[in-house]
Amino acid sequence: KATNTNNIKESIFTVMSKMATKYEAINLSQGFPNFDSDPDLINLVEAAMRNGHNQYAPMAGDFELRTQISLKIELLYKKIFKAETEITITAGATQAIFTAIAATIHKNDEVIIFTPAYDCYEPTIRLFGGISVPIQLRPPGYHVDWAEVEGKITSKTRMIIINSPHNPSGMIFSEKDMLQLEAIAEKHDLLVISDEVYEHIVFDGLQHYSAAKFPKLSQRTFIIASFGKTFHNTGWKLGYCVASEALMKKFQMVHQFNVFCVNHPMQKALATYLKTPENYLNLGAFYQQKRNYFLSLLKDSRFGIIPSSGTYFQLLDYSEISDEGDIAFTERLTKEYKIATIPTSVFNKEGADFKQIRVCFAKTEATLEAAAKILKSI
Ligand code: PMP
Ligand code: GLN
Repeated sequence: KATNTNNIKESIFTVMSKMATKYEAINLSQGFPNFDSDPDLINLVEAAMRNGHNQYAPMAGDFELRTQISLKIELLYKKIFKAETEITITAGATQAIFTAIAATIHKNDEVIIFTPAYDCYEPTIRLFGGISVPIQLRPPGYHVDWAEVEGKITSKTRMIIINSPHNPSGMIFSEKDMLQLEAIAEKHDLLVISDEVYEHIVFDGLQHYSAAKFPKLSQRTFIIASFGKTFHNTGWKLGYCVASEALMKKFQMVHQFNVFCVNHPMQKALATYLKTPENYLNLGAFYQQKRNYFLSLLKDSRFGIIPSSGTYFQLLDYSEISDEGDIAFTERLTKEYKIATIPTSVFNKEGADFKQIRVCFAKTEATLEAAAKILKSI
């Protein structure tokens, strides 16, 4: 029987992490650090539990945490989102994306996504009856052609989803990209989801242009962030969504019956931790050093490499090494070479395979060294 879950496949992150375990491979596939969160942050969680913050948080999230998020956005992007009405704490970015789509996308609404696209966008759009309209970005730059975007807009287009810094390519949107997006969204009265989970992980002196920086754009955008990426605790599954009061009202109508609220003691801990901006401002430098180290180790490998500009991912082009499709290639690397990576074609439009695999460099130096040794032998 046809249901709206037909054709939804198992996420590539489940597939590859399982395969990594089965073949005892070094796991550079699913994106997560293999080092721990700051012990001070863990102590703050313990203190919050001991101080009795063990019951439900308010529906929108702990007020102190929302206040700290508001202050962070003001500090970085010079825009005030009100803690009272414009911020909701979510169970990671995934739930925020799901909720924003559920709250706004109806049957036959078209949503423009840029492929390679993070894997939860398309199935979620489909679950609510929407239609994804993919625009394929291409190596080497993975840049958006905004004239092409304009050409895809119809009377049914309701939303554009962007993701910068971009997973998996490591590309970041320029100020000009954001201005073009703002102009198109205004002209066609579109909503936007701006997936900014890697907002603090930008390299080489480049800048992250949050949708929050663009006054008109910020009025029609759900900006989504993840603490998991920022504080090395993807397993805590905490993130947030900020949007105008009108959009946030719709968002919360869904959120209240989806989860109602999320983990309270961890929210308390994060509220205190965010009071020290150095806790997130140094993240770009931290990961840039890891990227540089990893790339220096891969210097004489046969992979084609253009350094990532942001995120903790690096693409490796294997077209000089093999003619295999990227799914077959990554399976073989896992089984034969004991290294698990992500085939990027699964994020693309059907049939687009650029012979590029994604590796996660949020790893200890020892892991990066062991991984580079294998990658150089391929
Ligand atoms: N968006 C992107 C682009 C991601 O890479 C991820 C996960 N790494 C998410 C959303 C989901 O984040 P979370 O783990 O906070 O749900
Ligand atoms: N976002 C992570 C990645 O891109 C994985 C998250 C997940 O497993 N769903 O690898």
